[in-house]
Amino acid sequence: MNRTQEQLNRIEKACLDKGLRMTEQRRVIARVVAEAYDHPDAEELYRRAAAVDPHISIATVYRTVKLFEDAGILERHDFRDGRSRYEEISEHHDHLIDISTGRVIEFVNDEIEKLQRRVAEELGFELVDHRLELYGVPKAGKKVERSG
Ligand SMILES: [Zn+2]
Repeated sequence: MNRTQEQLNRIEKACLDKGLRMTEQRRVIARVVAEAYDHPDAEELYRRAAAVDPHISIATVYRTVKLFEDAGILERHDFRDGRSRYEEISEHHDHLIDISTGRVIEFVNDEIEKLQRRVAEELGFELVDHRLELYGVPKAGKKVERSG
C-alpha cells in the first residue's frame, strides 16, 4: 500500500469516525487532499477534483473542505496571501513561507518546540497547540530547499 492509499484510508476512516457520509464526490475530494503536499487553496483543490470528476462544482469543494475542517480532518492556513490554504492534519510541523514566490516549506525544530513550551509554562500555561509561520525571501546565492 503506498502512502497516498494509506492517507486516503485515514481520511475516509476519519470521516466515518466523525459520522460523515462518504459520497463519491467527497471521496474524490478526500483523495485530492491526501495527494496534495503543497497546501493548495480551494480553487486549486477544485481544479484537481474536477480533473477526476467533472461534475464536481466549486461550491461542493468549498462545502466539503469546510466539512472536513469542522470535523478536524483538514487544517486551514492563512499565509497572508488572501487565500485559505488547506492540508490534511498530520504530524505537527511549522511553515516557512517564501513571500517572493508563495512557496511553503515545512519544518520541525526541537528548540522552537521546547522554547514555546517554556514560554507557556512561564506564563502559567500548559501548551496544547501552537502555530508558527515564518515569512522570508531566499538569501542571495543560497540554494533553497525544495517546497513542501
Ligand atoms: Zn504543512
